[in-house]
Amino acid sequence: MRHVAIVGSGPAGYYTAETLQKAGDIAVDVIDRLPVPYGLIRTGVAPDHQSIKAVSRRYEGVALTDNVRFVGHVSVGTDVTIDELVGLYDAVVLATGAPNDRPLDIPGADLPGVIGSAAFVGWYNGHPDFADLNPPLDAPGVAVIGNGNVALDVARILAKTPAEFAGSDIVAHARDALAASAVRHIQILGRRGPHQIAMTPKELGELSHLERASPRVDPADLPPEGDDALLEPGMRKSVTHLRSFSANPVAKPVTIDFDFFAMPIAIEGDGRVQRLIVERTTLDADLRSHGTGETYALDAGLVVSCIGYQTPPIPGVPYEHGRGRFASDEGRVLPGLYAVGWARRGPSGTIGTNKPDGARIAEMLLEDIGRGAGKAGRPGLDALLASRNIVPVTFRDWRRIEAAEVAAALDGRPREKFTSIEAMLQAIGR
Ligand code: NAP
Repeated sequence: MRHVAIVGSGPAGYYTAETLQKAGDIAVDVIDRLPVPYGLIRTGVAPDHQSIKAVSRRYEGVALTDNVRFVGHVSVGTDVTIDELVGLYDAVVLATGAPNDRPLDIPGADLPGVIGSAAFVGWYNGHPDFADLNPPLDAPGVAVIGNGNVALDVARILAKTPAEFAGSDIVAHARDALAASAVRHIQILGRRGPHQIAMTPKELGELSHLERASPRVDPADLPPEGDDALLEPGMRKSVTHLRSFSANPVAKPVTIDFDFFAMPIAIEGDGRVQRLIVERTTLDADLRSHGTGETYALDAGLVVSCIGYQTPPIPGVPYEHGRGRFASDEGRVLPGLYAVGWARRGPSGTIGTNKPDGARIAEMLLEDIGRGAGKAGRPGLDALLASRNIVPVTFRDWRRIEAAEVAAALDGRPREKFTSIEAMLQAIGR
């Protein structure tokens, strides 16, 4: 029997497990520090994107196979070390994603009311780490920094009416706070231009259909229309959306303004964020942005920085600091240790990008471990955890937690998520 441990139960973890379990004579343990599985699917994908979240049913199919086991509420680094796992299993795969925000390295970024997207998204999605975030929504202006899909998610969630959350699994504390929100002007700041966005057409198109909010683009920021022909088709569609926003005659009470060539250089306020100082930029021949020296101030009671994520380093595991991910040779980190998904390649691509990634790492490690080295594997981990009085949450336990969440849902919502680890454990009688 070969033994593999996967650390992290998000898409990269389960796609890796999916390929591994087909190899037959193998036991795969998927370990997660939360008592609930699916990583970003549960706490990252926007709550109003239920069709994307439905991919968790596929992971459930993998989790329910005989040779895959969920080991929840076990923290690698605290409850068990990487070295211990490498000693117990033929291979250990780090599928820990990139849950930390890239720091917004400007003066004032530590003022209350300046929040990274991991925290803000985690707050409205019920991540236990961010349940108490309480973002300030009492001022009309909000600045959203970044021109990727996360910036779009954040702007859309801030702009929606309570009725527009019907059918979503946004958590109650966020639903209530957003219903009482004073936010009226949402500025999405991009340090480069419309042709350099990292936003996809479907997500941009959604902004056209918001009940009380209208997206706006300054026509002066758009390159000549003929230049769009040089773009790849997806990007061309995205830019077509921006063009339609620039011609948008609809005046709704909430505005979502795209501010291009806009680089935040400082955040100011008396005890909390009140304004963002922004420098106009221009692009060089390599499409890099440079400040022009022209600055202006934007009023904002909340700044959400959506500038990408990082994988937290683990002592003893090689790490690429500049790129915020584990250092690996195509996924091989150290003998017996692998990385997959965002932990390997950094925070890019869609959920589906992790499928071929997971398959490739699984095939690579199967080749490396051959018939296995007769390691202790699953029983060895169980004995180690028992010796530390740690009782993992099983997949069966998770299904009881999920059933309680579904039972608590009202008004056509799919579930009412527990937002604390204690409440999750209480649901299984612990
Ligand atoms: P992203 O796509 O990498 O976008 C990051 C944005 O932040 C870029 O516009 C970047 O600008 C900007 N940025 C970086 N550093 C900055 C700085 N210091 N100051 C100002 N701006 C800065 O990251 P993301 O939006 O976090 O998304 C992560 C991944 O998840 C992406 O692959 C995304 O497509 C995916 N995702 C998908 C969906 C969906 O499919 N619905 C939803 C959410 C996320 P530059 O280009 O100038 O560097």
